[in-house]
Amino acid sequence: MSSITTHTLSKIDSAESYLASLRHRNLLIYLMGEKVAEPLDHPVIRPSINAMAATYQLAEENPELATVVSEFTGERISRFLHICKSQQDLVMQNKMQRRLGQLTGTCFQRCVGMDAINALHSVTFEMDAKHQTAYHQRFLDFLKQMHQLNGVIGGAMTDVKGDRGLAPHQQADPDLFVHITRRTAEGVYIKGAKAHQTGCINAHWLLVMPTLRLEAADADYAIVGAVPVDAPGITYIYGRQSCDTRSLEEGFIDQGNAQYGGQEAMIIFDEVFIPNELIFMDGEYEFAALLVDRFTAYHRRSYVCKSGVGDVLIGAAAAVAEMNGAEKASHIKDKLVEMTHLNETIYATGIASSHQGYATQSGCFLCDSMLSNVCKHHVTKMPYEIGRLAQDLAGGMVATMPSEKDLNHPEIGALIEKYLRGKASIPTQDRMRMLRLIENMTLGRNAVGYLTESMHGAGSPQAQRIQIARMMQLEYKKRLAFVLAGIPLEENTKQAAVEELGAYFERVFQSVK
Ligand code: SF4
Ligand code: FE
Repeated sequence: MSSITTHTLSKIDSAESYLASLRHRNLLIYLMGEKVAEPLDHPVIRPSINAMAATYQLAEENPELATVVSEFTGERISRFLHICKSQQDLVMQNKMQRRLGQLTGTCFQRCVGMDAINALHSVTFEMDAKHQTAYHQRFLDFLKQMHQLNGVIGGAMTDVKGDRGLAPHQQADPDLFVHITRRTAEGVYIKGAKAHQTGCINAHWLLVMPTLRLEAADADYAIVGAVPVDAPGITYIYGRQSCDTRSLEEGFIDQGNAQYGGQEAMIIFDEVFIPNELIFMDGEYEFAALLVDRFTAYHRRSYVCKSGVGDVLIGAAAAVAEMNGAEKASHIKDKLVEMTHLNETIYATGIASSHQGYATQSGCFLCDSMLSNVCKHHVTKMPYEIGRLAQDLAGGMVATMPSEKDLNHPEIGALIEKYLRGKASIPTQDRMRMLRLIENMTLGRNAVGYLTESMHGAGSPQAQRIQIARMMQLEYKKRLAFVLAGIPLEENTKQAAVEELGAYFERVFQSVK
């Protein structure tokens, strides 16, 4: 591949070989004011690496769910690298995501790359058709090499944005959106920063993409390209998470979920080179909005991951109610029903979006954008309510419990053991572990993923409302009402309704044969 690849790897086909692939990469990472020598060995970072490794582990344990046969190599590779060629492919992504949410209780970080490659497949194809460019073939060449590697592709999309009221080229500082600073015969150099990039340090390659609709004056910001994570000029600044330093302490109980965590970091690009063969958009500013729309259509229904995480939290709430001896109370059962109803609502809208997928010009299937936006919009609210109910069932001890050190203390340990017991048959330590897990998911490290990331990931709530407003077809719906109410329609109302039909329902109903 590119001459700038600073480490070469053979096919990664297990969690172990994935972990080995991350060692000795020489990334420039800062965490809490210090350079990280080896992320794999850093206790704050390691849980996020374990969560990514779980995607490889699931591929070994359940290849039907988490792998596909590569269209390039004929070998089994991760489903995260697959271009969807049917509705079923889209649906299987969601099933895999729910399962991984169940297994890790957190963000496993690999969906951005999956959703980006699917969006780029169709967008590069359509750009070539309009501009006679050669992006699609370049992209396929890159993808083939990712299939050979079976590696992790991360995204680099969300710019830091500066003044939200100004376009990229209008900003006081031109670097507030990633842009091209210079060109050579071999490629381009980019500069800027991408904020809160999920799993970027645990990836092998990054796909740099614009974050919003662009105009002609923003042409230098219309850049899409692939860079290896260890490309010269990249600095990572690790995002702090609530309670992250608990993993620096002795013991495991206070961490709640000691094994798994999510990861977000800021990526600074300082004159990072992208060779021509890895550039998939350069200046075609009018395709930036299409790329963002398609990426978010995929990614907003990828948030069914949260229903898998919700399964863990519902299980923890039911378990702690039992440990407290409260499981038979009717209001407890009713709250668990409510949590389940909310959780399945997230899953239902996401997977329905996939079931309603359709072929784009490149042959890649795209999910239904309306239902995908509805799914993600649910995710901005429902995990908070599920989390609230979990804390309700847990009782106040979830926020006031003494530490593992107190439990193990020679003088006060026996007191904790005695006074923190719920049901006599259940060890005190088990009850403490379950309470810590609920704390982890609703207040601690994994609340970052389950709550705040649910709010802002793949676009904050208002971004979904804008998309829903664009697609809601009010003229069409008014016409339905006018007809049934027996009110004559004016000619221009009829016409507006007909024109709007293509936005959503036409495709939905055409798919019913
Ligand atoms: Fe995947 Fe969910 Fe993490 Fe996004 S938040 S990368 S969809 S697991
Ligand atoms: Fe995300």
